Amino acid sequence: MKKRSNKTFPLLYWRRIAQTLFLLLFLVLFRLTDYKGEDQIPYAVNIFFRLDPLVAAAAMLAARALISLLLLSLIVIGLTLILGRFFCGWFCPLGTLLDLFQTVSPLKKEKSNVRRRNWKYLLLGFILLSAFLGFPVVGYFDPFSLLVRGMTLSVDPFFNYTVGSFFDFLYRHGPSFLSQISESIYSFFKDTLLAYNQKFFYLSLLSLLILIAIFALERIERRFWCKNLCPLGGLLALLSRFSWLRGHIQTSCRGCRVCTQICRMEAIDQTGGIASADCNLCLDCLHLCPDKAISFAFKKPEQRPVPLGISRRVFIGTLSSALILPTFLKVRAETKNPDPTLIRPPGAIKENFFLDRCVRCGECMKVCINNALQPCWLEAGMEGLFSPRLVPRIGYCEFNCTLCGQVCPTGAIAKLPLKEKQKTVIGRAYFDRNRCLPYAQGTPCIVCEEHCPTPEKAIKFREALVMNPEGKMVTIKQPYILESLCIGCGICENKCPLEGKAGVLVINNPEGMVLSKIAMF
Ligand code: SF4
Ligand code: SF4
Repeated sequence: MKKRSNKTFPLLYWRRIAQTLFLLLFLVLFRLTDYKGEDQIPYAVNIFFRLDPLVAAAAMLAARALISLLLLSLIVIGLTLILGRFFCGWFCPLGTLLDLFQTVSPLKKEKSNVRRRNWKYLLLGFILLSAFLGFPVVGYFDPFSLLVRGMTLSVDPFFNYTVGSFFDFLYRHGPSFLSQISESIYSFFKDTLLAYNQKFFYLSLLSLLILIAIFALERIERRFWCKNLCPLGGLLALLSRFSWLRGHIQTSCRGCRVCTQICRMEAIDQTGGIASADCNLCLDCLHLCPDKAISFAFKKPEQRPVPLGISRRVFIGTLSSALILPTFLKVRAETKNPDPTLIRPPGAIKENFFLDRCVRCGECMKVCINNALQPCWLEAGMEGLFSPRLVPRIGYCEFNCTLCGQVCPTGAIAKLPLKEKQKTVIGRAYFDRNRCLPYAQGTPCIVCEEHCPTPEKAIKFREALVMNPEGKMVTIKQPYILESLCIGCGICENKCPLEGKAGVLVINNPEGMVLSKIAMF
C-alpha cells in the first residue's frame, strides 16, 4: 500500500479525533451520572439517548405521544439524510469501542456472509411493530441501552471494587511511605474515575454476558454487530439510502480491490460499487486506495434505491412474530397477580405507560445514591425485564433526592421538584408480626420509627401487654403504620435490625394485593 496522501489524511484524522472525543464525552457523562454531593445534576448526562432516533421512534410509537425530550434525535435523522451513516463511523461509542477492540486484537480472517446483513432490518421492524402493539423491546437491542446498562450493572461496579480493593490492600499491608502516596492517588481517583459509592446489582452477570457477546462476535467479522444486528444501524442504513453524500470509484481504478478488503463495513462490493446504506464514512478507503480513485461527493440520491433483498418468507415470519409474540407475552403477564415487591421509583408514570417509555438504560439505577434501584427480572412480566424497581432491603429511596427523575432520558420517571417528591407515595409499609421484635418476641425496638423521614412520622406506637421470651408479662410499645403518612420509601425495611427478612416490609399497593401473597396480619 502506498504512503498516506497529504490530501486525504486530514479527513481520516478528523474521523479518529471525532470518535475519540465522542467516546470520551460518553465516558465523562457516564461518570457524571452519579451523586456528587449535589442534589442537582447540571449536565445533560442522558444526551446520547436523546439523540438516538431508534429510542425516540420506539418510545413515541409505544406511548402514542410526542415525547419532547427525544426530539433532539431529529438532528441525527436530518444529518443522516444529508451525510449518510456518519453516526456509526464518527459518533457511536459502541462502534468506536468495537473498532478499538479490533485494533487491540485484529481479526485474521473474516467469515462474512452477506445474507446476515438484513437481520438488522428485521430486528428493527420487530422492535417498531412491537412498540406499536404495546410490547416495547427497544431497550433490549438499542446499542446505547446495551452499553450503558452493561457498564452500569457490571463493568462499573467491578472496576470500582477492584480499584478500591487494590488501594485498600496497599493501605493495610504496604509500608507507610507507600500508603501515604497510594492514599493521595486513591483520593484523586475517587474524585474523578470512581463511583460515589460501591454498588451491586442483580442481573449484572447477564448484562455483562450480553456485552461480551457483542464483542465476541468481532471474532467472526469486523463490526459484526453494526453490520448485521444493530437496529439503530438498520434505521440509519434505511435513511442513508436517500443520503446526498456518497462514495464513488472513479475510472482511474485499476481493480486491485484493496478497498473491498479494508472496508470494515463491507460496503464496497467486488464490482466497485459503494453501498450508501452500509458505508459508515470511516474514510479508510479514501486514505488507502493506491490509485486515489475513491472520492466522496454530494450527489442527488437515485430515484429508486436498490431493494433490501429480504425474502418474503423471512419478512412474513418477522411480521407474524411481531404481531403474535407481544400479544402472547403481554396476555401471559397481565393474567398474573401484580407482584407486591414491584415498587417503581418516585415520579414513575403509570405502570403500562412506564413500560412503554422505559428503555432499560439503567441511568436511574446508576444514579441512585443508596443502590436501591435494581433491575427487574420477571417481577413486571417479560416486558419489564431490566426496568428499575426499588428493593428496600438493599437500599431505600433517599428522602431528599430527586436524581433518578433528572437523568431518565425518556420521561418514564418524571422530574419532580423535591417538595413534590417527598409527598409521592411509591409503596406502603406493613409490619410482619411474626418477625417484628415487639410483636414476635416482646422485645423493645424502635429503629424503624427513628429512621422514618416523614415530618410527622408514619410509624406510631401503641402500648400492649405481652409475654416476653422469659415468660414474663411486660408492657411494650408496638409499632404500627399510619397509612395516610407513609410514602413507601423503604428506609424502615432497610434499617430493620433483623437478619434476613425484615419485620417491616414495603409493598407497592396493598389495597390491590392478594392477601395470601404477602401474609399480612
Ligand atoms: S451500527 Fe449501531 S452500534 Fe454500530 S456504530 Fe452504528 S449505531 Fe453504533
Ligand atoms: S426509568 Fe430508568 S431505566 Fe428506564 S428509561 Fe428511565 S432512566 Fe432508563
